[in-house]
Amino acid sequence: MNQFPVLLGIGFLLGAILGSFIGMASYRWPRKESWGGRSKCPTCGRTLGVADLVPIVSWFFARAKCTCGAPISARYPVIEAATALLSALVLAEFGWTIAGALAVVLVVLVMLIIVIDWENFIIPDKLVIILFLVGLVWRWQVEGTWLAPLLGLGAGVMLFLTAFLAAFIVERINETESLGGGDLKLLFAAGPWVGFQILPLLLILSGVFGILFYLLWRKINLPAKQSADVPFGAFPYGPAICAAMLACVLLEQWVLKLFS
Ligand SMILES: [Zn+2]
Repeated sequence: MNQFPVLLGIGFLLGAILGSFIGMASYRWPRKESWGGRSKCPTCGRTLGVADLVPIVSWFFARAKCTCGAPISARYPVIEAATALLSALVLAEFGWTIAGALAVVLVVLVMLIIVIDWENFIIPDKLVIILFLVGLVWRWQVEGTWLAPLLGLGAGVMLFLTAFLAAFIVERINETESLGGGDLKLLFAAGPWVGFQILPLLLILSGVFGILFYLLWRKINLPAKQSADVPFGAFPYGPAICAAMLACVLLEQWVLKLFS
């Protein structure tokens, strides 16, 4: 039997559940709230029940409102749907393997970083460190040699130095901050996930996603986020790096086949 639709289906369901965890964790993490305890409506304090917590579906059935009438942010179904879709894709690409399981971990880490950076302009160091370490194991699993994670580490150094140099030059010309320290660390952690062979693809795609996300950001976030602590014109670049990293992980084998 063809495993492909099964992998897609299970990946989607698993991803939807993980996405609902990501929606909660990415809200509580920057606010330093504990991860324990059931979610409550911030307006009326009602503890959310099972019917409120079905990923993607609940939000639509409740018409984006709590029973008290307070609106529920579209961030939840969007995060759940994105995580579901990405989990389905990586599981379909890597199958029932350790690499497949680690790729689902990648989706969770990357979604957390995307949401937290998008909403708060921070990339938690802890997430970046875990991302890097899981990446080393993943690279070893995919290529099957001990040399592969070492090369992945080298790729991380290359990415870090390239971006550091580019940022340095841009800052000299513009006299404004361009890439933040969090972005540089994130690029380093992307090394083992991307590998040496398609490094340029990561840089190109993070530029493309950067432009797309910037347009989206201006549409959604600019009026609300243009507060004192966010400098004018600032925009989080972490989500673009993360999206490019995921695209590279999904496309690596295809691209290598194309050029072999
Ligand atoms: Zn309520």
